Amino acid sequence: MSIEVRNVWKHFGEFTALAGVSLKVETGRLTALLGPSGSGKTTLLRIIAGLEFADASNDPEWGRVLFHGEDVSGVPAGKRGVGFVFQHYALFKHMTVAENVAFGLSVRGRSTRPSKKEIADRVAELLDLVQLGKFGGRLPHQLSGGQRQRVALARALAVQPKVLLLDEPFGALDAQVRKDLRRWLRSLHEKLHVTTVFVTHDQEEALELADEVVVMNQAKIEQVGEPQTVYDRPASPFVIEFLGNVNRLTAGLAKLNVPARDVLYVRPHDVDIRRTRTGEHDLQVRVLHVFSAGNYGRVTLQRVTTGEPLEAEVPRDRLRELSLQQGDEAFVVFRHVRLFPKGEFFETDVPEQATALAADSYSI
Ligand code: ADP
Ligand code: MG
Repeated sequence: MSIEVRNVWKHFGEFTALAGVSLKVETGRLTALLGPSGSGKTTLLRIIAGLEFADASNDPEWGRVLFHGEDVSGVPAGKRGVGFVFQHYALFKHMTVAENVAFGLSVRGRSTRPSKKEIADRVAELLDLVQLGKFGGRLPHQLSGGQRQRVALARALAVQPKVLLLDEPFGALDAQVRKDLRRWLRSLHEKLHVTTVFVTHDQEEALELADEVVVMNQAKIEQVGEPQTVYDRPASPFVIEFLGNVNRLTAGLAKLNVPARDVLYVRPHDVDIRRTRTGEHDLQVRVLHVFSAGNYGRVTLQRVTTGEPLEAEVPRDRLRELSLQQGDEAFVVFRHVRLFPKGEFFETDVPEQATALAADSYSI
């Protein structure tokens, strides 16, 4: 079941929560809505679910929600065939795990309600699927947070939704549990292929889990793309800053027809540290701090001419080879940089040019 949202506006009083959002989600994909708190993710998800409605408009094409090409804008939530999981497990406290999972089926009208045996079989199957086969008789308070979210997911899946909507489902859990559940959700999705939209403010979660990432900021969509694309080819300063660590440096761009001083973005893993100068544009830096953990080390540097801070991520072997000490002078070359002059973007993978863009006296 594909999902399409057309030019959705949503105001709460004076406040604009969504400002003309359009989006297509292909059938069977796992899509992440990623953005900072307050960017409109939950509002968009609730409008897709039918729990909230877009502002009315004179243009009949605006504010529409389509499932599989069919307009469902006026269809209430209960009739959209949507499964929902929220951040705070909304399990029924007085019902067992099995009763919780069975709930959506057991409240159906007599004509569509499966038999008791069919419901019990379906519940057993779902509990196995979320790896809680032995926990059917427990009450929610006898489970861990991660287990409760898996029950919530089983309950959402019980009614065989055509669309699964998850709003920060792991948001309230510990970092390690979140990571485990993330992988588990990915493998579950690969088994079931239910079209899924997943809200998160955690960029790592979005990049690791989703087929497609929708980056939201201030009521608008900034970029839609596969994780690799939004990470490697961010469309705006907001996206590059939101998705992972990035250094900001002033660039000298006189001949690019942009203001003489613009911001140049470099990912820490694109900062190559050298002991000695290797080219005329190498930036001179001082080592402020070296931290080594696992296969990578983090080096905090300071650019000598401007005092700007610069983070570098260096493979451990290379770090050993460099044997940097606090206070050392060194040089850096950039492997890849990105800038956004006048709303466009400019990037280069040529280290000579990339480094030169930050050089004090340079213009191209
Ligand atoms: P996100 O999920 O990205 O954090 P939301 O969609 O929940 O963002 O909210 C976007 C903005 O709209 C927030 O600033 C929030 O305060 C506001 N908002 C959301 N729902 C309501 C509401 N029912 N009434 C008033 N303001 C709301
Ligand atoms: Mg939210």
